[in-house]
Amino acid sequence: MTTTVWISPSATAFSCLCEPCLDRARDAGLLFSDALTAASVRGSLAVEADVTVVRCAADHEIVLRRVERPPGLPRHDDRQLQIA
Ligand SMILES: [Zn+2]
Repeated sequence: MTTTVWISPSATAFSCLCEPCLDRARDAGLLFSDALTAASVRGSLAVEADVTVVRCAADHEIVLRRVERPPGLPRHDDRQLQIA
């Protein structure tokens, strides 16, 4: 079971919950706050990477996918700041 997390187009860091770990903690009867701590995964990612695969502490795969930009919001371009 793979967790897929959608990341905003400009994000360079993420914080998410591993769903299998959350299920496991729930099955084990952990307190909800302990379950969140056990399932929490954080890290950084390259801004140019559209898909990044990370693993939680229990080695479950988590796929980070960037949300596609709407056509009206093109990728940031420094040249736009050079209007004299
Ligand atoms: Zn996990």
